[in-house]
Amino acid sequence: MKKEKAIVVFSGGQDSTTCLFWAKQQFGEVETLTFDYGQRHKLEIECAQQIARELGVPNTVLDMSLLNQLAPNALTRTDIDITQEKGQLPSTFVDGRNLLFLSFAGVFAKQRGARHLVTGVCETDFSGYPDCRDSFIKSLNVTLNLSMDYPFVIHTPLMWLTKAQTWKLADELGAFPYIRENTLTCYNGIKGDGCGECPACQLRKAGLDTYLSEREQSGERAI
Ligand code: ZN
Repeated sequence: MKKEKAIVVFSGGQDSTTCLFWAKQQFGEVETLTFDYGQRHKLEIECAQQIARELGVPNTVLDMSLLNQLAPNALTRTDIDITQEKGQLPSTFVDGRNLLFLSFAGVFAKQRGARHLVTGVCETDFSGYPDCRDSFIKSLNVTLNLSMDYPFVIHTPLMWLTKAQTWKLADELGAFPYIRENTLTCYNGIKGDGCGECPACQLRKAGLDTYLSEREQSGERAI
């Protein structure tokens, strides 16, 4: 795939930045696509743009503010708190978000002459978002190909990884310190290790702690 071009769906978070490093290793040419849907923190967009700049890949920001009209929730509206009841989807859930993002990414990719799409969706650790599941991605891949008569391939390098394994992949790609320091996962808009208290930070920290203790046990030098 070294001569081919890929579009990475890119938020500037840990997962999509890991995907970006992965894609840079796999493909000859890589571009990033970031969706602006009125996130709580404009910082997320700026963070994505900065990472793209630092890694030397083009970035395009697409206006997806219509998502706000469709599904007002805690990610897009600052007047709703981020909460998660046991056994339910968190209040950050937006119905069909990945369906919409990946469909727009497909149209964008074809215009750019790319047939590879890379997304950081993951079935393992997440809270049950139906459009993060592998079956959905495979189904959408077929639909995209039929809709545009074009041979898309959707890549999901994180699909079956735990958060700890995603850190391991970052390390194998030589990107561990960069991703730890420069990505934004925190719902409170704090880069790197974040606020430490929101659900996103807790999930990220649990994975990081697991990975670091595994790495220590395996006798490798901690960075
Ligand atoms: Zn946080």
